[in-house]
Amino acid sequence: MPGFDDELRERLSQLRGKGLYRELRQVDSPQSPRLEIDGRIYLNFSSNDYLGLANDPRLQEAAIRATEKFGVGAGAARLICGSLAPHHELECALAAFKGTEAALTFSSGYATALGTICALQEKDDAIVIDKRVHACIVDAAKLSGAKVRVFAHHDLEDLECILKWADQRNARTSASRHPRTLVVTESVFSMDGDHAPLSPIVELKEKYGAWLMVDEAHATGLYGSRRGGLAESLGVSDRIEIQMGTLGKALGAAGGFVCGSRVLIDYLVNRARSFIFSTAPAPAVSAAASTAIQVVQSNEGEARCRQLWERVAEVKAAGNRPAQAQTAIIPITIGDESKAVEAASALRQAGIYLPAIRYPSVPHGQARLRLTLTASHKAADVSELLAALADLKFQF
Ligand SMILES: *Cc1c(COP(=O)(O)O)cnc(C)c1O
Repeated sequence: MPGFDDELRERLSQLRGKGLYRELRQVDSPQSPRLEIDGRIYLNFSSNDYLGLANDPRLQEAAIRATEKFGVGAGAARLICGSLAPHHELECALAAFKGTEAALTFSSGYATALGTICALQEKDDAIVIDKRVHACIVDAAKLSGAKVRVFAHHDLEDLECILKWADQRNARTSASRHPRTLVVTESVFSMDGDHAPLSPIVELKEKYGAWLMVDEAHATGLYGSRRGGLAESLGVSDRIEIQMGTLGKALGAAGGFVCGSRVLIDYLVNRARSFIFSTAPAPAVSAAASTAIQVVQSNEGEARCRQLWERVAEVKAAGNRPAQAQTAIIPITIGDESKAVEAASALRQAGIYLPAIRYPSVPHGQARLRLTLTASHKAADVSELLAALADLKFQF
């Protein structure tokens, strides 16, 4: 029998053989269009810091002030003695931002999905997810013990078939509580940047009496006149039971949140295990997120979005894909995992940081360079990227 480390080495070497090995790269600079790695500066097109707020002086200042007043660690879970003023202030700001009665924050978006989905659905219930939802939703659905059904990406007919099935199944069950169906989708999909058909999904879930949870991780801060997200821009926010998101992308901080009715939030405080059994987020981070929400809602937030969409338009024009939805995420599909790694490495040699995204982040054989733009990129940065892509003869 091989020893523990030998066994793991063998498993890793299999990953390597398939082009699926991953490793960490130490970054020695803050998030920005330029990253310092191993003493070299790279032009960065891989961050989710869409509005360029992660290293904003006002967020830094808010974090420093909160640290001076509340210390570094929250010291306990929220329900014990860790429910600090910055957490409550952030939740008020989030609810106002999203136009809901209340909000609850978690230590990450991942923990938000896990805690929320598992609190709502259990063994006799059903969860219906889009084929391409984020791993945290897939993991949560599995962990909940509910019956999980997957509909083809954006396929409303498939979704309706499954909702019909769930409706009949729920009616048949002899459980003491009437089983419920929860539909979960992202609004802007993390790896493709495409938009879910949210309005028809809302119509369908209402037709079949299902609940809807929308993950706005890649939309919060970017869409709608108040930049609340895609649901706001489509005018369907108040018909979505559970709006979730992360504070770690366009909002430049860290943590996750749910916005919804007061009773939903009270319920999650009582039942979401990733909330209950976890130390409260650092007060510095919550204070920084509150500041980010102010910036996003201001005229400056609007201006930053405009800069982002200008950069996006420049890339799209060069890549000849004008019909694609408005998105900061532009996948350059390569397919084969090892080829994608080679492509990323060639770009790195050209001074462009754009790592390969592979299984299990995307399906097997759909490896890609996930190009993201931010409001901090300049037109000259995009030109440099486009020149490097052209040099390497990338079609996108
Ligand atoms: C990033 C992401 C999350 C997780 O959020 P974190 O705060 O990073 O844990 C959840 N859902 C989607 C769609 C994401 O892209």
